[in-house]
Amino acid sequence: MANSKRNRMKVYKFGGASVRHAEGVRNLLNIVSGEEELFVIVSAMGKTTNALEEVFDAMRKGDTAACEAKIAEIKAYHYTTIADLFGSTEYRIEEVDALFEALRKAVTTNKFERNRAEEWYDHIVAYGELVSTTIISAFLNKEGVSNKWVDMRKCFHTQARHKDANVLIEQSKTPLRLAVAGAESRIFVGQGFIGSAPDGTTTTLGREGSDYSAAVVANILNAESMTVWKDVDGILNADPKIFPDAVKIDQLNYVDTIELAYSGAQIIHPKTIKPLQNKNIPLYVKPFGNKLAAGTEINGTAPTFTTPIIILKRNQSFLRLRSRDLSFVLEEKFPIIFATLERFRIKTNLIHNTAVELGLCVEESWHLEEVATALQEEGFNTEIIEKVELLTIRHYNDELLNKYVECDDFIISQLTPDTVRYVRPL
Ligand code: ASP
Ligand code: MG
Repeated sequence: MANSKRNRMKVYKFGGASVRHAEGVRNLLNIVSGEEELFVIVSAMGKTTNALEEVFDAMRKGDTAACEAKIAEIKAYHYTTIADLFGSTEYRIEEVDALFEALRKAVTTNKFERNRAEEWYDHIVAYGELVSTTIISAFLNKEGVSNKWVDMRKCFHTQARHKDANVLIEQSKTPLRLAVAGAESRIFVGQGFIGSAPDGTTTTLGREGSDYSAAVVANILNAESMTVWKDVDGILNADPKIFPDAVKIDQLNYVDTIELAYSGAQIIHPKTIKPLQNKNIPLYVKPFGNKLAAGTEINGTAPTFTTPIIILKRNQSFLRLRSRDLSFVLEEKFPIIFATLERFRIKTNLIHNTAVELGLCVEESWHLEEVATALQEEGFNTEIIEKVELLTIRHYNDELLNKYVECDDFIISQLTPDTVRYVRPL
C-alpha cells in the first residue's frame, strides 16, 4: 500500500510564444513527456489573441467582410501548424473546424451592442485558447501522451466582470476537481485566460492571464509546483529588448514578484502570485528551449532582491482632475473618483495629488472619455493625456537615473528611497 499514493500534480503553463508554430508544440511534447500527474495550461498560439481582437474591432464596426477575412486568416495560420504536426495539408481536426465555424457564425449573425462590448470581446477572444488546446491535446494523444482536454469555462466560475475577471476559487473547486478525478489519463490540457460568469457567458481574466489560470489550478489541486515555460532564461531585472544590460534573477520571494509584476514587468501576470502564496506552492520560470535549466524560482523564503529592476509600462493614459470650485478638500471626492474608474473598469497605476489636483496614470481604455464626462458632472475640470508610459526603477542608483531617466519632459515623477517612477509622453 505504501506505493499506492499518487504523486502530487504539477502544473505547467505554456504561453503563446512557446506554441506559436509546430516546432514549439513538439517542444511542449518533449517537455511533458514522462510526466505522470500534470495539468497543462496553454495560451492561444502566437499572436492569435491580438488577431481575435481585430475580429472584435471589425464586428464593432459592423464590417462583416473584414470579420470573415480575419477569421479565415487565423484559421489558415492554425492549419499550417496542424499540417506540420499531423504530416498532411489535408489533415482536418473536426473540433477545430467546429470552433471556427461557431466563431464565424457568432460574429456574422449577431448585432453588436455597445453596452455589451466587453462581453462580446470575451466571447470572441476565448476562441484562441479553445483552438490551441484542441490542437495540442489531439497532437499529444497522437504521440502517445494520452491526455484529457478540459473545458476551463466549465471549471472556472468567475466574477461577472468581463475582460478582467477573477476566478472564484471556492466555487471552482468542485468542478475542477471533478474534471480531474477518476480520469484515466493523468495528463490534462486546459485553456488559460478563460472562465465563465454566473450567467454562463464566457469571461477572460485579463490579457496575459494564462499565468493566473495556471496558478488557480495549482491552488485548487494542491499542486507540488507550477512552472511557466517561456522564451527567456528566467525572470530578468529588465526587458532585454529595451534595456540591453538585463540580468537573470535566480530566486525571488512572492512579495518582490508581486511588486515587480504590478509595476508592469512582463514576467508574470500580477494576479498569479496570491493563489500560489496561499498554498506555499513554488513557481518556476524556465526557458522552454532547455528543459533542464534552473530558470528562476519564486517562493516564500527567498531573500529580498536588491539588484536594480527597471520596468517600462506602455499603453497608459494620464488623467488630470481639478476641482472646479477650488475646494481644497479633494480627498472628500476620492470615493466618487475611484468608484467612477471602477465602474468603467479602469486600472490606476499611479496616483499623484495636490490640494486641488489629482493626477492618475491609468491603463488605456475605450471608456476614458466617458469617465471624464462623468467626473465633469461631479464638478471637475478634466484633462486626458493619451499615449504616455510609466517607468519604474526599484533599487535605483545614480547611474541608472542618468542613463534611463530623461528629466525634461516628464508629466509626473515620484521618488521614494527605494523606487523612482516617471510618467512621460511616449
Ligand atoms: N492569450 C491571452 C493573451 O494573449 C492570454 C495569455 O497569453 O496569457 O493575452
Ligand atoms: Mg498570449
